Amino acid sequence: MTIQAVAGLLPDEIAERISPEPAFRARQVFKWIASGARDFDSMSNLPLALRASLKASLAVLSTRVLDSVKDADGTVKLQVGLADGYAVETVLLVDREGRKTACVSCQVGCPMGCAFCQTGHVGYARDLDAAEIVGQFYHLEDAVGRLDNIVYMGMGEPLLNLDAVRKSIAILTHPQGRALSRRRITVSTSGLSAGIRDLADNGPDVRLAVSLTVADPALRAELMPVTRSNPLGELREAIRHFAEKTGRRVTLEAALMAGVNTSRERARELADFARGLNVHVNLIPWNPVPTLPFSTPSAEETRRFLAELEALGVNATLRMRRGTSVAGACGQLGRGLGTARNAEPDDGLT
Ligand code: SF4
Repeated sequence: MTIQAVAGLLPDEIAERISPEPAFRARQVFKWIASGARDFDSMSNLPLALRASLKASLAVLSTRVLDSVKDADGTVKLQVGLADGYAVETVLLVDREGRKTACVSCQVGCPMGCAFCQTGHVGYARDLDAAEIVGQFYHLEDAVGRLDNIVYMGMGEPLLNLDAVRKSIAILTHPQGRALSRRRITVSTSGLSAGIRDLADNGPDVRLAVSLTVADPALRAELMPVTRSNPLGELREAIRHFAEKTGRRVTLEAALMAGVNTSRERARELADFARGLNVHVNLIPWNPVPTLPFSTPSAEETRRFLAELEALGVNATLRMRRGTSVAGACGQLGRGLGTARNAEPDDGLT
């Protein structure tokens, strides 16, 4: 028998599962999970008979923490096991002000094949469902306390799994549950123009980050194959559409690789791309992955590139590198995980 995880359900859906129990019972269950209950026995305001029937037919979460490592800079990386034996990685990032951000995965591996990204080299096995995405957030909160933000920037391309991403956002922002503000949610894409337009037109109204990396079409196609089916001109218009429709400024991310995308010419192309758009550029010195043929630029190379952009009128920030010692930084996820099943499937859980 397949057992469903309640963490992936909205109150109305829980009500259907526990019918003919009154709807307020479903809201109680939903609220308990958002407040940290991880088994039905601890939901103390539910009748014992209901707790017993919930235990028999549903699970609270479909995921479990297999491993946890912490970097000296506060970054925490969890390896989260899925019921069918696959695993993904989830990262806590802590900024200088102490704000805590969960970086969650939305696919097992990733099909996009970005040349500079570890995850892009481990292949792709399947999409996560909403319970598996929400479960990562709750596991991190269990480990480190209340989180301030969530970014869909871990393993996988969120816009290829938009239904589950949308559902997970609906659960985490629900006023009767975790009630996370949409302003505190960022969806990051490698540059799928149709997905960006879909998000702009159909919501949810969250922040958008685009991994631009470089604005030269040929070099970007080499580094990010998505460029071949989503040309830069179309991507730029999709970003414009998103910013105009939502009124939100879009973040353009650029992983800087020594000698690859840090020249004056690359700065000028990036400035041309950004000109006239409501965007902010985040520069991230490439995080080392030993098996990939790139290297991290020196502080001087990075500083020079930032200065070039600023001189060209680009709104740009150099982002701190975090979590590199635990391979939990951008582009490093999935090392040693692959897309092989790491464990035996859990009996009955989906
Ligand atoms: S950078 Fe993002 S989209 Fe590209 S391969 Fe890595 S996880 Fe996938």
